[in-house]
Amino acid sequence: MILRLSRAILDSMKELVTFSGASGYAAGELRPALEKVLAPLLEVRGGVSGKRLMLKPNLLSWRCAEDPAAVHPAFLLECIRLLRDAGAKELAIIENPGMTTAPAIIRAMGIDGELARLGVSVANCADYRKTELSGETGFRSMELAREFGSFDEVVNVAKCKTHAMMSLTLATKNLFGLVRGSERLGWHLAVGKDFGRFADMLLALKLRVAPGINLVDGIVGMEGNGPGSGDPVRLGFVAGGTDALALDDAVVRHLAVPRPILLTRADAHGLIPEYEERGECPPLPAIRLPDPPPPGLAWGVWFPPLVRELLRKKLLPRPVLNEQDCVGCGVCVRMCPPHSLQLQGRRPRFHYDSCIRCFCCQEHCPKGAIHLRTSGWMRLLTGAEKFLRRIFPNRLYALLTSGKKNALPR
Ligand code: SF4
Ligand code: SF4
Repeated sequence: MILRLSRAILDSMKELVTFSGASGYAAGELRPALEKVLAPLLEVRGGVSGKRLMLKPNLLSWRCAEDPAAVHPAFLLECIRLLRDAGAKELAIIENPGMTTAPAIIRAMGIDGELARLGVSVANCADYRKTELSGETGFRSMELAREFGSFDEVVNVAKCKTHAMMSLTLATKNLFGLVRGSERLGWHLAVGKDFGRFADMLLALKLRVAPGINLVDGIVGMEGNGPGSGDPVRLGFVAGGTDALALDDAVVRHLAVPRPILLTRADAHGLIPEYEERGECPPLPAIRLPDPPPPGLAWGVWFPPLVRELLRKKLLPRPVLNEQDCVGCGVCVRMCPPHSLQLQGRRPRFHYDSCIRCFCCQEHCPKGAIHLRTSGWMRLLTGAEKFLRRIFPNRLYALLTSGKKNALPR
């Protein structure tokens, strides 16, 4: 009896992750799928009746129908309708898309009128304040949007897409938009050289914001040159979770991709909570990831700093320009933290010696004119790594991930 009671208490402490299939964004299919995913989360969280909710969608850009760089407008609208129907008192979309504004993206999506009719406000993060972090992953404070603390709940609405630094961006990475823009550049400069440190910073951010309602739009995702200029890929799923890391972990398992560095770092810090999974995720197709960081540079193998720096420069992909797509707008130049880009004759020129490979230029180029080029050395190493992994999968990965069993690729 006592054992059964303790088991029931433990079970009730687990986080919840929910899945549903959805092949498109038509309301007839999307609403029931989102309902299936959202209703159990609201039940666990005690509902949203009478609450003031801040939605933090991924709104990087919106250039064409089903642009995989952002949450689909139909997805966002349907979330809002469901939260409104569940009794939310106030809903606000707040985001900081970098080179444009949240209202401009919402207008480009064509949903500004409907949002106004639903009484939903849309704004850029307006005010930031120094926010203490738990220090669990080595970060003590950062400048965060003040708004996230002035609502009853943050609803994190993410997109399933690739990311040059983190390999994938899901619910946890989506919270980076709450950091002050100039500070985001600073973080890229300070920790962008070390993807593990960057991941640790994202984990510290997640622990502080701790959104209790997280959703992922995985109906049309992105593969390849993410997060801004990859290709759409039809995945056909919607997912939700009471914890952003639990949700990311579950999605990655279904995608069957090598474990992204954000999750191996979360494993190392023991931050992935126990969770229960409900609902059905359809079988997901293999997606094309950006090239991973080379072995030894971000996955725990130590090199002397000078060797490490040299290897980084030689092995990490370089941003390169596709002159035909470039319109000379200069966004990439303004977004480059160490000023490694200069406009010459309306075309950006890269100074690779000072480039820290943060890929901000590629992320923010509105024309997708910057691509990442993998070096011959890197291709050779990747081939060797794949070969070794096939022969000694466990031993190699134990070496690369400091022997953490749960960091093995699934
Ligand atoms: S590469 Fe992209 S961001 Fe840079 S100037 Fe050309 S179009 Fe603008
Ligand atoms: S050139 Fe691009 S990748 Fe290099 S530091 Fe500047 S923004 Fe980052």
